Amino acid sequence: MTRRTRAARAAGAAIALTAALAPASGAWAAGGPTATGAPGAMGASRATAGDAPTLHGGWVGEAAARRGTTTRLAGTTSRPVGVVRVDRRVSGRWVAAGSAAVSTRSSSAGSWSVTVRVPGVPSAQTYRIVWVSGRAPLASAVLPTLDVYELDTYSVRTRGRVSSDVSTFARFAAATYADPRGWARAHHRFRQVRSGGDFTLVLAQASTLPRYSPVCSVRYSCRVGRNVVINDTPWRARTPAFTGDLTAYRRMVVNHETGHWLGLSHRSCPARGALAPVMQQQSKSMQGCRANSWPLPGEVARVR
Ligand SMILES: [Zn+2]
Repeated sequence: MTRRTRAARAAGAAIALTAALAPASGAWAAGGPTATGAPGAMGASRATAGDAPTLHGGWVGEAAARRGTTTRLAGTTSRPVGVVRVDRRVSGRWVAAGSAAVSTRSSSAGSWSVTVRVPGVPSAQTYRIVWVSGRAPLASAVLPTLDVYELDTYSVRTRGRVSSDVSTFARFAAATYADPRGWARAHHRFRQVRSGGDFTLVLAQASTLPRYSPVCSVRYSCRVGRNVVINDTPWRARTPAFTGDLTAYRRMVVNHETGHWLGLSHRSCPARGALAPVMQQQSKSMQGCRANSWPLPGEVARVR
């Protein structure tokens, strides 16, 4: 058999999800020339030498890892032989990211576990697992995309006298940060901490805004250094120029000011009737654009 035919056979994997060891997120894959493992049969496969080789496995836990850390993959093989290799897709090619010998403790099936170090840059990464015995790949499967994310921590403070309820404010901000339409698309996750953190989210009395910087206005929100400052007055009632509803305004202002903290600068409305970039100053003028609370693809792509 040529190398190409073998690879084609290995890649022709029928996908069957296996319940026994599958994580809640469903970040699990199965592969082989044919998938013989029935749901629940993991580790109890009655595979014999004549059976088609079957490989099961996936991320342990969520298909996500903080940048620069390690994460673990685990699974089973239909026979206790060989090595499972983990490859990462880099510029259109598969590059080895780790491997481990298949455990031979069971006489009928194998199990394996591989720890890999994930890239240091927030990104979506494609991995596959390849079961190899001798020189021949027996089976392989592409895994659910791994979200390699940056973790940003923040604390919540108030400044001056504010009318809004601060715990409601904090909950709203956390929901906005966790929303898959938000900066999560740029592989950033946010976690509130009691004090300190990477930035401070401030709910501030309008009159205190210029104390952060002369460029901050009592009418709008502002970002100065590590302070993402939300103005309590428009938080309660929007600005007159913003054409969306109050919820849309609040999401927009959290994403806009946090976008500055992530390194983004202002954008203009690209065309009449288009969705406004979240980094457009929608609090001041819609410039002919439609109200929008979430980063546009071009803005997501700018975040490092
Ligand atoms: Zn701004």
